[in-house]
Amino acid sequence: MAILPIHVLGSGVLRQEAEPVTEFDDELRTLVADMYETMDTALGVGLAANQVGIARRVAVIDAEDSRFVMINPRIVEKGSTIEGAEEGCLSIPDAYGEVKRPTSIILEAQDEHGAEFRLELEGLRARAVQHEIDHLDGIMFTDHLSPLKRQLLLRRWKKEHEDDGLTWLPTPEESETAG
Ligand code: ZN
Repeated sequence: MAILPIHVLGSGVLRQEAEPVTEFDDELRTLVADMYETMDTALGVGLAANQVGIARRVAVIDAEDSRFVMINPRIVEKGSTIEGAEEGCLSIPDAYGEVKRPTSIILEAQDEHGAEFRLELEGLRARAVQHEIDHLDGIMFTDHLSPLKRQLLLRRWKKEHEDDGLTWLPTPEESETAG
């Protein structure tokens, strides 16, 4: 297993729409294992393949007591209750903003062997899944903020991080909890 470099804002792959996975082979399973290790080291609640530079529809989640990989994920139902909560992102370190999302969803996806599964999720788990599926569509959480909040957040972030380059390697000393 390996810890993969995480792409940060400014890296083009974060804006790419990821391609569906069609081959459920050892290469895919290695990617999934590496993504788990990278998410755990960065203390994230989720990580999408775009964030490690690979535009394929793969994401891992570790939120509350749910830990799973979702491949080719689809949200097939959204609850009618919408709530705002603060979100962060491993690809925009140290930036947080309130995002409104449905509080419950039904997810359909495949596991690393191609088996279909269906999960009813709510709370942080539902939020993490929606955040990661956004990544697979090239959407960042900041896209959900009002134009003014987005501008302020991005201006401050660029000022503080413009010398960081396009990727960073998480280390056990990093201690953000984000997706
Ligand atoms: Zn994110």
